[in-house]
Amino acid sequence: MTLEVHQFPCLSDNYGYLLHDSASGETACIDTPDADAYLREAAAKGWTITQIWNTHWHPDHAGGNEAIKAATGCTIIAPAADAARIAGIDRTVAQGDTVDFGTWQAHVIDVGGHTIGHCAYFVPGASIAFVGDAVFALGCGRMFEGTPDQFWASLSRVKALPEDTTLYCAHEYTASNAKFALHADPDNAALAAYAAEIAEKRERHEWTVPTRLSRELATNPFLRADDPALQARWASQGGRIGSAIETFAALRSAKDNFR
Ligand code: ZN
Ligand code: FE
Repeated sequence: MTLEVHQFPCLSDNYGYLLHDSASGETACIDTPDADAYLREAAAKGWTITQIWNTHWHPDHAGGNEAIKAATGCTIIAPAADAARIAGIDRTVAQGDTVDFGTWQAHVIDVGGHTIGHCAYFVPGASIAFVGDAVFALGCGRMFEGTPDQFWASLSRVKALPEDTTLYCAHEYTASNAKFALHADPDNAALAAYAAEIAEKRERHEWTVPTRLSRELATNPFLRADDPALQARWASQGGRIGSAIETFAALRSAKDNFR
């Protein structure tokens, strides 16, 4: 009984993921940045696509839904609060819902903030989570639609997953995230070591995704907005130390303007 995750680069900096259960023959597309690439990769594996799990409505995540459904007749599962902007949906899901996948089950986690309805899919039996654009290695998604308190609550749900969870993020943004993380949290030795490793990997054109939650908890500034040292460093100009939500908001807007 094993689940296989097949990862491949898509578009300019997305990762495509096909999740396959050999026992049942189920194959899920995690998002659909590029229908042709997904259909080609599935065919090369000898897999028949049976499901699509969308994380959010952005075209680099749901743009291939209709073409893949037309080619395969698969079932499309997508976040309820983003559903009006996603094509071909068969079932909407929200926090606490489960998705059956052979004998496996994915738990839907509300990680809204990048978009209002952004969801992650956590498969506890395999210790893996598909987090879309909510969490990146050393970063998080831009807050296009949500509020800092919503986004922090979302990140807190990710933080609460088992530490050995493998996080499959939707983009290879790690090198630029690392630059901001080092600026945000310069005294963090674990971060310095991680950033050096990332630079070497990118030098060799290797992927830095997936990542491991335990490592992100120690190094990702956006997951560490509840850390007293980071809160002190990111205190307001008058020196007032902010809450986790305020610190997250300060970090998020600083990253938006960081060069
Ligand atoms: Zn997005
Ligand atoms: Fe994206």
